[in-house]
Amino acid sequence: MELDRNRWWFVFYEHNIILQKSEDGKLDIPFKAQLEFNQPNPDTIHEYCFHDKYPCTAVKLSTAPAIDSAKYIMLSLRDSFFHLDLWKYQAAGSAQQLIYWDENTRFCPACGTATERKSLIMKKCPKCEKEQYPPIQTAVIVLIRKGDEILLAHAHNFKYEFYGLIAGYVEIAETLEESVRREVKEETGLNIRNIQYFGNQPWPYPSGLMVGFIADYESGEICIQEEELRNAAFFSKDNLPALPQKLSIARRMIDWWLDQQIKKEQDK
Ligand SMILES: [Zn+2]
Repeated sequence: MELDRNRWWFVFYEHNIILQKSEDGKLDIPFKAQLEFNQPNPDTIHEYCFHDKYPCTAVKLSTAPAIDSAKYIMLSLRDSFFHLDLWKYQAAGSAQQLIYWDENTRFCPACGTATERKSLIMKKCPKCEKEQYPPIQTAVIVLIRKGDEILLAHAHNFKYEFYGLIAGYVEIAETLEESVRREVKEETGLNIRNIQYFGNQPWPYPSGLMVGFIADYESGEICIQEEELRNAAFFSKDNLPALPQKLSIARRMIDWWLDQQIKKEQDK
């Protein structure tokens, strides 16, 4: 198979992406890459146009690539955010989701027969004809205001020592607002009101969509769910703990609130 090199190449090995080093030390997605690593298995190559604009190839190598460290570096998708243009980070996220979906849909979940790939995002079982598409796991995340403070929490699954917002997966037959209310009640014991949509963000770890909401505290005392959280408290803008990194919608929401607090002070 002759590979079309005239594309952006999103090459993964295990959980890392390979980036190219330019002469000025910047990192980028390899383009027109003379791919100097192992030839990938053609069955694992996905070619598509990201946002109908950028020709991309997503591929995951099955063996460790022998990369020239003067030209390439491997790092996690999260860390790539701090080096790449936004569209390239988003395209890398979509590449990782495609690969993850491909790896996990080799067989029909209904009858166990090997599936056939029919398009970039559709596989079909040749026996029972069940179709499979990449699933999106929807999660909600909420910033809760109480006077001049917001609720921040440290969850056990946070990788670093920062405090973030309350979040969780949407359950079957729930609206997004019901999910927000339930997660807050379960994890903190608090009741909230005035739940307003803020924005959303694809979250390719491994295939989520994070939907952000702003809400106001209504009643209750903080009583944390100890299996999920280590600590939760209300913080004012002047005593904030370490915050989530800039790549997350959590941080975008906190920054939005901070801007509002600063404007309020200036208007006084
Ligand atoms: Zn089947």
